[in-house]
Amino acid sequence: MTGRAPRSIAVIGGGIAGLTSAYRASKLGPDRVKVSLFEASDRLGGPIGTSFDQGYLLERGPDGFVRSKGSAEALARELGLGDELIETRPEYRKLYVFKRGALHAVPEGLALVVPSDIASWMRSPLATWTGKLRALADLLLPRGPTDIDETIGAFVRRRLGPEVSNLFAESVLAGIHSGDPDRLSMRATFPQLVQMERQHRSLILGALRARRLARKSAERAAPVSAFLSLRRGMGSLIDALARALPEGAVRMQCEVLSLSASAGRWIVRTARGSETFDAVHLAVPARFAAPLLRPIAPEAARLLAGIRHVSSAVALLGYREEQLDMKLDGSGFVVPPTEQCELSASTWLSHKWPGRVPDGHVLLRGFLGGTRDPDAHLQDDETLLRRARAGFERTVGARGEPTLTRVVRYADTSPQMELGHTARIQRVTALLRELPSIEVAAAGVHGVGIPDTIKQASEASARLTLA
Ligand SMILES: Cc1cc2nc3c(=O)[nH]c(=O)nc-3n(C[C@H](O)[C@H](O)[C@H](O)COP(=O)(O)OP(=O)(O)OC[C@H]3O[C@@H](n4cnc5c(N)ncnc54)[C@H](O)[C@@H]3O)c2cc1C
Repeated sequence: MTGRAPRSIAVIGGGIAGLTSAYRASKLGPDRVKVSLFEASDRLGGPIGTSFDQGYLLERGPDGFVRSKGSAEALARELGLGDELIETRPEYRKLYVFKRGALHAVPEGLALVVPSDIASWMRSPLATWTGKLRALADLLLPRGPTDIDETIGAFVRRRLGPEVSNLFAESVLAGIHSGDPDRLSMRATFPQLVQMERQHRSLILGALRARRLARKSAERAAPVSAFLSLRRGMGSLIDALARALPEGAVRMQCEVLSLSASAGRWIVRTARGSETFDAVHLAVPARFAAPLLRPIAPEAARLLAGIRHVSSAVALLGYREEQLDMKLDGSGFVVPPTEQCELSASTWLSHKWPGRVPDGHVLLRGFLGGTRDPDAHLQDDETLLRRARAGFERTVGARGEPTLTRVVRYADTSPQMELGHTARIQRVTALLRELPSIEVAAAGVHGVGIPDTIKQASEASARLTLA
């Protein structure tokens, strides 16, 4: 015991960022830290949440996370969910591309957008001979300039040519962000590919070397799935975090209306009154952080307000297996922007993960919206379901009435890490360092996925508790 009062920390936002931060801080014990988490809505988790209906497990948003980034898996294990972690089903890891009215399997060994199995790439019906050879020119091209921020589109066109860019830059890379490949920053969204060029000069050479290394380790151990999820859905991560917080730490339906600084401390105002804290973690997307920061740090607020957010919608459709012409043998498909389809992508959740559907059923998720279709989320359920059904009829030959339907909308939910994002965030960080203990760390600041969000929230929490 130090005899000092515990450090009080306000965490604003009850998504995965805020919950992780509050959990990390509270683990230091009540003698050192008293944490209060403010959540505006009546539920925790933001887009993360799981429900069950008619034997289907339904994810409201994310269905899993990238394993290689480590932080999400580590957090799940730490929370006692180690036995709940599940891998993607090995027999259904194939991804399809919808091209010229049909689904074609992505060539073996494609690493995001980079061919690493040349024979399979040359056999693929997805690209023309010119397109295939242009991609292989990457083997000879010199390194690009290292000091400029490039868009995803510019980077992929420069290294692998326009056909690969049309096939995969939007649908695979920008698609993860529901964004526009000609606006998103390569450095901010896929730093690993920028690093690959720096290290190996050629992306294909880098991917070939990585594949060789992976093969060697696979000889020693069974190959692992690139993605993980939880047996009872991603909502169980949110529930476990909430359970691990001290009693009374979470204030639901308690929107933070303003923040102000006084004598080196922070006054947090909600409709229930004002409280003073030693430190504040703004664990909300930039569009919510900006108005709270405006009176205190107007330049940082202006920079954060400049981060665009786009909207999207998903339709979840259940069918009996015999309602589909195609026997599903993969985990979903993407649609290049030049193709005619009602959907921009689909995940076949029943095939990607074990235990998601009743026997003999399939569960398909169709993506609508994003920068390709910015107003989709404004359409009514009937319209979105009609579009999704037409999209599944066109692609996998789904016929008749679905056994289950669900629509989820995400208004202004996907932050866009566009050109200049890294420099923008560096400037925001420098400006906030001039203030007493305050951090902005949530999806869209340093990365958007669950593992990046957990990592940045944990780091922010560590800085605030140590200060
Ligand atoms: C459809 C979809 C699918 C996705 N799929 C995946 C996936 O498969 N894998 C993956 O890794 N990632 C995925 N993501 C990304 C990931 O889900 C998000 O990046 C992450 O959940 C965001 O967490 P967060 O805590 O930063 O923000 P949020 O979850 O948005 O949390 C912010 C919270 O702050 C609250 N809030 C806002 N303002 C205030 C205020 N003034 N006072 C109090 N509370 C406030 C909000 O109500 C909200 O609950 C997906 C995202 C979407 C939308």
